[in-house]
Amino acid sequence: MPLSESWLAGARDIVGDRLLLDPDALAPFSHDEFATDAFRTAPLAVAKPVDEKEVAALVRLCLREGVPLTTRGGGTGLAGGCIPCPGGIVLSMELQNRVIDADAKNHTITVQAGMTLKRLYEEVDALSLYFPPHPGDEGAFIGGAVAANAGGARAVKYGTVKRFVLGLQVVMASGEVMELGGKFIKSSSGYHLLDLMIGSEGTLGVITRVTLGLLPRVGSVQTLISPFATVQQAIEAVPGMLERGIVPCAVEFVEHAPMRAAERLLNKTWPARTGDASLMIILDGRNEEDTLSQAETIGEVMEKAGALDVLLADQKVKQAEILELRSNLYEAVRPATVEVYDVCVPRSQIAGHVGLVHALAQRLGASMPSFGHAADGNVHSHFLKSILRDGLFGPELPNWRSQRDEATAALYADVAERGGVISGEHGIGLVKRAYLSKNLGPVPMAAMRAIKRALDPQGILNPGKIFET
Ligand SMILES: Cc1cc2nc3c(=O)[nH]c(=O)nc-3n(C[C@H](O)[C@H](O)[C@H](O)COP(=O)(O)OP(=O)(O)OC[C@H]3O[C@@H](n4cnc5c(N)ncnc54)[C@H](O)[C@@H]3O)c2cc1C
Repeated sequence: MPLSESWLAGARDIVGDRLLLDPDALAPFSHDEFATDAFRTAPLAVAKPVDEKEVAALVRLCLREGVPLTTRGGGTGLAGGCIPCPGGIVLSMELQNRVIDADAKNHTITVQAGMTLKRLYEEVDALSLYFPPHPGDEGAFIGGAVAANAGGARAVKYGTVKRFVLGLQVVMASGEVMELGGKFIKSSSGYHLLDLMIGSEGTLGVITRVTLGLLPRVGSVQTLISPFATVQQAIEAVPGMLERGIVPCAVEFVEHAPMRAAERLLNKTWPARTGDASLMIILDGRNEEDTLSQAETIGEVMEKAGALDVLLADQKVKQAEILELRSNLYEAVRPATVEVYDVCVPRSQIAGHVGLVHALAQRLGASMPSFGHAADGNVHSHFLKSILRDGLFGPELPNWRSQRDEATAALYADVAERGGVISGEHGIGLVKRAYLSKNLGPVPMAAMRAIKRALDPQGILNPGKIFET
């Protein structure tokens, strides 16, 4: 159904010409960064409000007219969360990118939710402070990162985005503006609505402002690369370093097969040339003495665990190159990717889970490269529609659809048996919604539906995401 004249007139009153209706202008808002077009849906309109007042007015208009709305951040999500539902509109946060308050004394910053992570890191740096979470793509907005409870490589030491959110301003489905939390750390003052909003994927409210708690800057960073003969050996080396009392900033495992594709993409070289997989370990600390001493201990642990080598990248340029290669793994395998898994299992179960993925790939005759966050349990395996060899993709497999479905069912069953969840950081969105109920069970699902009904009785906020409505 097209938008009514009264909706169009109301929206123009609120945002003026910051309302897109032309199909060509709407097309970029029909997808996120999920690899396939399977969920692509164009909105009927895109509105670009500049503050919470305009957001609230748009929400009230949509409520009155019964028009579903989907909030869009940077559109870098991998779960189809910001894809509008049929007959719906998109509320783009891109013009809400101001600093509201930068407070070096309280170690906090309050920004509008449409600020990119790239700009946020610059603003925090200007305060000589540190916001540790780094969920991959710096084009993501802070509001999107909160709405997805994004994680990234540094979660092992610092936790996910959730740990740093002290306050939120949220426009509710009623159009009322709610302030949650503030510039303080503790609160035992009633239900923790702040936490409820984090990870709610735009289904319970529109986040318009975010207050983050910040840390002092670190003084020194070192990066280690340790190749191993097998990926299992690499992953099994991780508990040893934690037992020695060292919690690295990041511990990533990388299979060399997808890394060869990233090398081709960027025309750069990963330092390890032997073995099937590497651990990439990032250490941070007060000063160089601190990080070098951590590196020495980790080197001993890696050698004892059977590492083929331990390479230290102490130069910033080399560290940046390594990080660039790791960050581009998804981009490198994307041309053939038809499913990105984002499971999270207890740390002790990662090696077993990756073993299952290998066995599945072998049985199905498919490529399922894996990489991920080896110390926090978050594994990203990918199902490819063609075979990946020496960084190159072969022809499309004739039965990849049924093979992918079989792989997905087996992989999620394994995750459940190991006590894990089907999404560690990307969210459920549209892409994983069919699998959530089996993973969590009926009681949590019923509680989530009850919360949705209570806070959004008319179901106008991003309906159909996380679960069907
Ligand atoms: C190359 C690449 C690497 C990535 N690496 C990581 C990684 O390491 N870790 C990780 O966690 N993620 C990663 N991601 C996924 C993605 O970047 C994160 O999920 C990010 O947090 C999404 O932010 P966004 O602003 O792009 O949100 P969008 O994609 O625009 O939206 C995501 C969800 O949040 C909702 N939303 C957005 N803004 C708001 C708001 N203001 N209020 C309410 N709801 C809102 C949307 O409706 C949607 O449901 C990666 C993505 C890519 C492409």
